[in-house]
Amino acid sequence: MKRIRILVFNAALGVLDYRVPEGKPVEHGSVVIAPLGPRQVLGIVWEAERLSAQEVPESKLRPILEVLPVPPIPERLRRLIEWTADYYCAPLASVARMALGSMAALRGGGTTTEYRLTGMEPARLTPQRAAALDALQGEQASIKELAELASVSDGVLRGMVGAGLLEPVTVDLDRPYPRADPGFAVPELSEGQQAAADVFVEAVRTPRFAPFLLDGVTGSGKTETYFEAVAEALRLNRQVLVLLPEIALTENFLRRFEHRFGVSPILWHSSLKSSERRRAWRSIVLGDAQVVVGARSALFLPYAHLGLIIVDEAHEISFKQDDGVRYNARDVAVMRAKFEAFPVILASATPALETMQLAEAGVYRKIDLPARFGGAQLPDIQIVDLRQEAPERGKWLAPRLVEEMKARLARGEQSLLFLNRRGYAPLTLCRHCGYRFQCPNCTAWLVEHRFSQRLACHHCGHEVPVPEACPECGTGDCLVACGPGVERIADEVAEILPEARVALVTSDTMNTAEAMNEFVAKAENKAIDVIVGTQLVTKGYHFPELTLVGVVDADLGLEGGDLRAAERTYQQVAQVAGRAGRGEKPGEVLIQTRHPEASVIAALAAGDRDAFYAAEIEARRDANAPPFGRWAAIIVSSEDQAEAKAAARTIGGTAPNLPDMLVLGPAPAPLSLLRGRHRFRLLINAKRSAELQRVLREWLEPLQFPRGVRVHIDVDPYSF
Ligand code: ADP
Ligand code: ZN
Repeated sequence: MKRIRILVFNAALGVLDYRVPEGKPVEHGSVVIAPLGPRQVLGIVWEAERLSAQEVPESKLRPILEVLPVPPIPERLRRLIEWTADYYCAPLASVARMALGSMAALRGGGTTTEYRLTGMEPARLTPQRAAALDALQGEQASIKELAELASVSDGVLRGMVGAGLLEPVTVDLDRPYPRADPGFAVPELSEGQQAAADVFVEAVRTPRFAPFLLDGVTGSGKTETYFEAVAEALRLNRQVLVLLPEIALTENFLRRFEHRFGVSPILWHSSLKSSERRRAWRSIVLGDAQVVVGARSALFLPYAHLGLIIVDEAHEISFKQDDGVRYNARDVAVMRAKFEAFPVILASATPALETMQLAEAGVYRKIDLPARFGGAQLPDIQIVDLRQEAPERGKWLAPRLVEEMKARLARGEQSLLFLNRRGYAPLTLCRHCGYRFQCPNCTAWLVEHRFSQRLACHHCGHEVPVPEACPECGTGDCLVACGPGVERIADEVAEILPEARVALVTSDTMNTAEAMNEFVAKAENKAIDVIVGTQLVTKGYHFPELTLVGVVDADLGLEGGDLRAAERTYQQVAQVAGRAGRGEKPGEVLIQTRHPEASVIAALAAGDRDAFYAAEIEARRDANAPPFGRWAAIIVSSEDQAEAKAAARTIGGTAPNLPDMLVLGPAPAPLSLLRGRHRFRLLINAKRSAELQRVLREWLEPLQFPRGVRVHIDVDPYSF
């Protein structure tokens, strides 16, 4: 009889011992089903010596029930999972769960059934069936997914199957993906690109850890360059993972990939439908998948023979997950490359300070692409001091910016206005009594969305229709919008340039791949004169006719007072400025600000990235902030404010007194109410030498709190 130790997928249970019955061979990493009381649990067989469990006598061990028909989770991935759990102070099971991706896929391949409309159009329909008929045009998915899409019950759809309105389709989960061809459309690289590509190709051929920072200005052709590394991996039959910061960017990426390699890569993100997930997961695990493009969740999948990871726009904050396991996919990607001994390429025009520091210290090899591809010049950047060149009352665009936009329109060129704020106005108040619309669940104002006629909270999703009258004093027609969002800027443009064709690009208007594709096609075909957008338009796009970028409010990001505010402002403005003048015509950027003297604005204006990094490095050194010192945050929350506060005080009261760690707080967290939970926060500032994770564990593990209290740790937090 053989005793095995299993990591069970339930963070509260953790680790349990079982025995293996005859004829069920398991190895470390096997995915198994085991009995637990009357229930069954899923788990991974783990090295017993690496996990401590409660001692159970031999005679009491229960046998596992089933070994699932998937390859075991490889050892090197198990080590990465352990490292991640340890570093981010997260439960091991929560990290390991990310490797499994699709529970259904664990049951094996074969076929599944999906449904689609038959095309039959009966004369009489119930309103629900009519709505479903409308919503499901062109869709094919499981009953459950279709029901969600159409906002009707499963029962309505089953009825429609019976009535012949929906028909079943058999989907083969094992059908192979078309093969990418490394020689499909090989571009002619510039000299600089070729030199960089040669380095990457050599690294892919050499199976050892090799981290790179591909530091290239916007428009330098980073993508074409790292595609050569992808091509080499394809030739050697190693799998490639390309991490992108958000799903919105994948459409553009897919097109470029297809252009270069002849087929689309495999997509992995949270909104795949179940059959796509199952098919993709199996092909990744069995080794057929060649190139996977995904959001951060693609990082922990058990690739059969991964040989290269690329993190594009590696500075983006969305690589940091801010719930569940609070890991930074950029950093874990580097660790995965280290554990599995292959190259990793971080690509960015505005690398994070930490990344830059590691490159300068020689930990990452820095590959530069200092010039734009095809001889395009970097844009000319000018400051518009809003204190001296004020927009008209109730308007947000300074006269000089308006003049430049008019000139572009007259010449048939495009302009882009950037404001990182969705909606029409960030605050709505009553002119009569001063009432302000606030979210009942969060410390946040409700943002007016004029097109949908609603007030919405951007933190919890709470929404109400814009009322006719003030809910406080009852006065009608008294609500005033304060401040601009992108919708308001789009209105202003329509007023100033009535003949201009304006595109509004935010996650509200571009919520489907089709919408995004349509926008890109129009912008490329000169069917758009002015683009007004949030950070969604700052990255990745290449519109040759775009020659003017206006940053509506460069001070917006600086107000929060968080650690990385200056860096983030620099990155955002530099990225959006990078959209201008990518074709033959030179670009111009106007930055509206009230603080032209701020070091980040001055560096942007001078186009002096090195000066910005140098100043920021000094500021970080003084504050013992990353990359010099480290931060961790402890967030304590409860629906009951007093309970949360008491728990935070308990934590504060037991804080260790160590020479290399400073504990600040507890204090109300910046979002002191979030989704109905009151939040308090402690901040820990540690020297590099401190054993931060060990101290945190030993400090917090013995503490006990009431059931309603949640305590979470955020190591290397992005915003606190
Ligand atoms: P970056 O990601 O560095 O901002 P891109 O990879 O988007 O730059 O490249 C900018 C533009 O130049 C894109 O339209 C791209 O297709 C084009 N480009 C880059 N390198 C080449 C090349 N070697 N041959 C042809 N076009 C290229
Ligand atoms: Zn809210």
